[in-house]
Amino acid sequence: MHQIPFSGIRKIFQAAADWERRGENVIHLEIGRPDFDTPQHIKDMAKQALDQGVVHYTSNYGAPDLREAIAAKLLTENGIQVDPDGEIIVTVGANEGVLLIALALLDPGDEVLIPDPAWLHYYYCAQLAEARPVHVPLWEQNDFRLDPDDLESAITPRTKMIILTSPHNPTGSVLDRDTLERIADLAIKHDLLVVSDEIYEKILYDGARHHSLAAFPGMAERTITLNGFSKAYSMTGWRLGYVAAGRHLIDAMIRVHQYSATCANSFAQKGAVAAYRGSQACVTDMVREFDRRRAFLLSALEEIDGIHCVRPQGAFYLFPSIKEYELPSEQLAYHILDHAKVAVVPGSAFGRYGEGYIRLAYSNSYENIEQAVERIDKALRQLPASRKWAGR
Ligand code: PMP
Repeated sequence: MHQIPFSGIRKIFQAAADWERRGENVIHLEIGRPDFDTPQHIKDMAKQALDQGVVHYTSNYGAPDLREAIAAKLLTENGIQVDPDGEIIVTVGANEGVLLIALALLDPGDEVLIPDPAWLHYYYCAQLAEARPVHVPLWEQNDFRLDPDDLESAITPRTKMIILTSPHNPTGSVLDRDTLERIADLAIKHDLLVVSDEIYEKILYDGARHHSLAAFPGMAERTITLNGFSKAYSMTGWRLGYVAAGRHLIDAMIRVHQYSATCANSFAQKGAVAAYRGSQACVTDMVREFDRRRAFLLSALEEIDGIHCVRPQGAFYLFPSIKEYELPSEQLAYHILDHAKVAVVPGSAFGRYGEGYIRLAYSNSYENIEQAVERIDKALRQLPASRKWAGR
């Protein structure tokens, strides 16, 4: 357990809380969750379920009506065919899904290819299973999209699994169909499992499209689709996600789930049925507002000397380069927190290839984001001139 560190996001969050305790107004751009309330029709369904006595354990796999809603959604939106009986587990957030995958499907010494920077859970859940996370770099020059050649060169006889996230946290990159086809070919050629984390699938911009790997030829039996309700429906506190995969894989994962979470919250699951079966206008509205903030933040950052940023096509993060400041990203993030009272996450918190960047989540109000940029600009101007390589 000593090898499992506390998250860099938590650390900055706590440092921000320390300032708040001292009466400072901190603008939070470090938290990876939508700032909107959960849509009313979803809350109403959960409240109704609570009043009607939906207060008991559900099946270990999840409530049958939610599994049916998930299977129907996967078929119509993603082209993935799964049996709601035995090929889906409703989990306590997608995060529990990551742990189930690691504990059920990885053996000690197995290598797991993880594009770096990444959502931290992948590295440490793999380590909890005594497997070895292998960091495959994502390059800014490639808009942080995974290069299948980098992936292939990391494959060894011990490689068991690839973990993909598209749209991606922390960079917002989106994998296109051609890249996914090449990754699918590699997975088939080397007989690998692929985890496709699609939690941001609905948060897309500039006409970008989401493609689900499990729908590609030959991929259904080797892909674990991971998703959840946290991001698309602003339900992070409800703790609901799911894994969908072939029966043999789900059969392994249910054993871990059965002896840990047992099942997800019963009345919350009713709310999730409403999320999938109800109107999707709430999602469209949220994405439109994210897009407005993204456009503002991108153009405002361009005006700041020493910062430049890839234009991401998904999720709600920007991952600007701060390399010109020649400071470790953690030090720069603390400088921004201490001097601008804006909390951002150092890129190094997401893996070694995240060094040189910071993550800004635009899951805060437009007005707060406007103020945050102004304050960041001012704080960066306070850095000694030698900290910045002029004209590079
Ligand atoms: N995957 C990714 C890529 C994420 O960014 C997150 C949350 N930040 C999760 C999974 C977990 O989401 P949850 O457990 O709330 O469903």
